[in-house]
Amino acid sequence: MDTSQIFVTLGGVALISFNLWFFFGKKATIKPVAAKGALYACPMHPWITSDDPTADCSICGMKLVSSDEVGK
Ligand SMILES: [Zn+2]
Repeated sequence: MDTSQIFVTLGGVALISFNLWFFFGKKATIKPVAAKGALYACPMHPWITSDDPTADCSICGMKLVSSDEVGK
């Protein structure tokens, strides 16, 4: 085996490893963000949303709550 074959083999392994890391790493980082739901919504008007926890509903003025607490 000459050195070019070794480099091709190592390159292939590195590429597969990178793809696996990219796929699973990306999935792992997106999931907690979606599960935590850094989005706040009005209990009366769930379509009024904001990522600011101190924001008020623009329709009724109620304090927005975590979207986890708003009925789905
Ligand atoms: Zn409202």
